[in-house]
Amino acid sequence: MLTADYQRLDRDHHLHPFTDFKALGKEGSRIITHAEGVYIHDSEGNRILDGMAGLWCVNLGYGRRELVDAATHQLQALPYYNNFFKTTHPPAVKLAEALCRLAPAHLNRVFFTGSGSEANDTVLRMVRRYWALKGKPDKQWIIARENAYHGSTVAGLSLGGMAPMHEQGGPLVPGITHVRQPYWFGEGRLGEGRDPSPEAFGRLCADAIEAKILALGEENVAAFIAEPVQGAGGAIIPPESYWPAVKEVLAKYDILLVVDEVICGFGRLGEWFGSVHYDLEPDLMPIAKGLSSGYLPIGGVLVGDRVADTLIEEGGEFFHGFTYSGHPVCAAVALANLELMQSEGIVERVRDDLGPYLAERWASLADHPLVGEARSLGLIGALELVADKTTGARFAKSLGAGNLCRDLCFAQGLVMRSVGDTMIISPPLVITREQIDDLVRLARQALDETARRLAEHRAT
Ligand code: PMP
Repeated sequence: MLTADYQRLDRDHHLHPFTDFKALGKEGSRIITHAEGVYIHDSEGNRILDGMAGLWCVNLGYGRRELVDAATHQLQALPYYNNFFKTTHPPAVKLAEALCRLAPAHLNRVFFTGSGSEANDTVLRMVRRYWALKGKPDKQWIIARENAYHGSTVAGLSLGGMAPMHEQGGPLVPGITHVRQPYWFGEGRLGEGRDPSPEAFGRLCADAIEAKILALGEENVAAFIAEPVQGAGGAIIPPESYWPAVKEVLAKYDILLVVDEVICGFGRLGEWFGSVHYDLEPDLMPIAKGLSSGYLPIGGVLVGDRVADTLIEEGGEFFHGFTYSGHPVCAAVALANLELMQSEGIVERVRDDLGPYLAERWASLADHPLVGEARSLGLIGALELVADKTTGARFAKSLGAGNLCRDLCFAQGLVMRSVGDTMIISPPLVITREQIDDLVRLARQALDETARRLAEHRAT
């Protein structure tokens, strides 16, 4: 089939996620046909450097034979069986053990799901169940953060703090409230009451959590949930002061900590989990994406001893689970993925070599007239596009500077995502130094072209 045929059928029959259906119908989709390493290929013969690892998930890169073999063997041995009703199978057992070995020491149990959203639905039910079993059924409120992303199911959406999502398809799950995010560039530097230092701003954001706990009453609060580094919100790396201050606040109260590791888990920040990087001790850790490098859908919740012991000893049957919880083929691929990450020292390489290298190269973009801030940690990075470098003033929303830059990137052969006027990257963890150089070169070219087009627009 030709590109135009795919596009016509796609327009006529396929409703895409997070897409303006009508606008896409007019433009036509790009058809990705195959991929290898850090590159994807489209039906027009273009090779594109995938600076987003798919959707933050293809950590080991494309075309890993070992993962294909793991899937093939498992499909032949046992393509499906479930973990309900006192049964299981070798891949689920082995994966559970491997995950708990890699996770911080107090996380010794895992509940499998098919996705990150399902993991967060599981979190919501587990934390409320935990407190009910503890004889504190009023502990229902969950404190989350504005502009967080925790998924697209109704619980994931409600835990997330994305205003445009909340405006569609409510009402949301009750008992969830949101506090400010530690987004220094957007809300500290550019916010009202201008320019607290990043460190002071980080503490202000932690204070907001304490204020919320006091307003709701500790006896009514079940948990606080957050991503170590916000991903979909714009690769928001909190000020260094933030997590220590949050830890201090949470230590004062009896509230569970849920750290959503769907993006930060499996090496993205240069440790197996973002919680290790920030020295957090989560009670629950939702995971997905990099768990299987995105080759097959699988997620889960790693459960700390405190919660697990209660659910096991006092809980009786937990009426929750999915047909594909711990799917054998997905689990076999995830296990092979973890084994490869270990044998190839991927996490250490991100921490000791690629992360610092990206930080240096990425920071070099800060001299560009369009860039108000260039930040990165491990292999996640962001550029803030601004109209005025000194004040940090943004472009008018109607100009769509971020989307323009994203489209120009694609045209130059690089996938970089835009969140408003924040450009973000999260490349496969197997990217080389040379490929990082290429990524930065392509990003600069796209920035130049974006600046040219925006100037043209102003002149007309
Ligand atoms: N949590 C976080 C932090 C995420 O980034 C995502 C997906 N982008 C999810 C949860 C939801 O995962 P899924 O799309 O697999 O449901």
